[in-house]
Amino acid sequence: MDARLAAIRDTVLARNPGEGEFHQAITEVFESLGPVHDRHPEFLHGAVLERLCEPERQIIFRVPWTDDQGQVQINRGFRVEFNSALGPYKGGLRFHPSVNLGIVKFLGYEQIFKNALTGMPIGGGKGGSDFDPRGRSDGEVMRFCQSFMTELYRHIGEYTDVPAGDIGVGGREIGYLFGQYKRITNRYESGVLTGKGISWGGSLVRPEATGFGTVIFTNEMLKTRGLSFDGQRVVVSGSGNVAINAIAKAQTFGATVVACSDSSGYIVDEAGIDVPLLKEIKEVERARLKEYSVRRPGARYVEGGSVWDAGATVALPCATQNELDGGAAAALVRGGVLAVGEGANMPCMPDAVAAFQADGVLFGPGKAANAGGVATSALEMQQNASRDSWSFEHTENRLTDIMVGIHDACAATAEEYGSPGDYVLGANIAGFVKVADAMLAQGLI
Ligand code: NDP
Repeated sequence: MDARLAAIRDTVLARNPGEGEFHQAITEVFESLGPVHDRHPEFLHGAVLERLCEPERQIIFRVPWTDDQGQVQINRGFRVEFNSALGPYKGGLRFHPSVNLGIVKFLGYEQIFKNALTGMPIGGGKGGSDFDPRGRSDGEVMRFCQSFMTELYRHIGEYTDVPAGDIGVGGREIGYLFGQYKRITNRYESGVLTGKGISWGGSLVRPEATGFGTVIFTNEMLKTRGLSFDGQRVVVSGSGNVAINAIAKAQTFGATVVACSDSSGYIVDEAGIDVPLLKEIKEVERARLKEYSVRRPGARYVEGGSVWDAGATVALPCATQNELDGGAAAALVRGGVLAVGEGANMPCMPDAVAAFQADGVLFGPGKAANAGGVATSALEMQQNASRDSWSFEHTENRLTDIMVGIHDACAATAEEYGSPGDYVLGANIAGFVKVADAMLAQGLI
């Protein structure tokens, strides 16, 4: 890393002790930015990097609620409003027991650059809670969401901060959150949240957008080598919103998706995953993935273990951060993997990214490859602002154009800065320059 940037990085890490994921995200971005600061000394003079690493606002709050046994439960809520240079803060809410301030800050920091890459007028933010919705009744989830929004409502708004879903937050949770916001504010402010239901301000394609976009981006990478998804053997980690829609899109592009996972284990289905069955089990019944192998002839379930052992020519990590380590990357490389597209945020550990890049594997980082979700959230905001609703086809075409545009911008930037084919460098520089220019133009903010 450039010595000037290393000194700034060390200060940032010391100011944010114990936040390992945030440190990892910062280091990864800083490693790309040396050449930018050679060309743009004004970014150093203006302390843009130091400012970018300090959230504009961090909110932590108590979330009390009552469970079905009448017991009072206490969770912790977070919203980190990281950067509003390009537009209102925008980024999802994550409900998972692992959520802490460092994880929310890593996600919010990544979101700044991701949102810049979409070309839409949205800043970066992220939030969530250590609440675990798994195994909770609908009533418990609703009471939690209502309590969460009873504090959050005062910090958000369609021109201020627009949350959406992430791990553990899907259409059901967005519904409960929106209902409580409307009740407290007495405003039908559709643009305050995205990921809403179709009949009350949602956008077609939003549920599919992150997974679809990841596959579209990865397909564009494959095209640079005269390849496509057609005929590829694909493995996807996770079996939530992003994973299911990545599986569906890869199959429409002609691939065979042979495996996916949850946090308990993984399934292998050499005939190709049956998406309607997977959706029924995971989205309707909210059951565990193991159930798929019980109902699908020929499929097997592996308790624990690594889904990457199934072997793939295209790997799509779509579960969570740091789920794919150097060992799994080495095994994928030995098995002939051609491309890796990150549907999740930072799922590949730094040694895994290094192994892929050293071997010439096409590698699409999450802040570029999974930007289709937030881009379609911005399309939802556009529809809300104009009180319009677009067709599936029109919205999917917009998503495709945006993903191809992000791919091309990353590729062109990597080329311009002397590292052709390095999508990590391309994404970091293209996103950073856009935000840095806007921050300088707006004075010392
Ligand atoms: P969901 O809650 O819908 O699904 C998460 C999936 O990942 C579940 O199958 C879950 O299994 C699995 N999972 C979680 N932790 C682990 C683990 N340690 N090992 C294996 N599997 C695990 O979340 P999403 O699909 O929405 O989000 C997935 C990723 O995509 C996250 O990194 C998120 O930040 C990112 N993302 C999501 C966007 C969106 O629009 N939703 C937008 C951009 C990025 P289990 O049920 O066992 O916990």
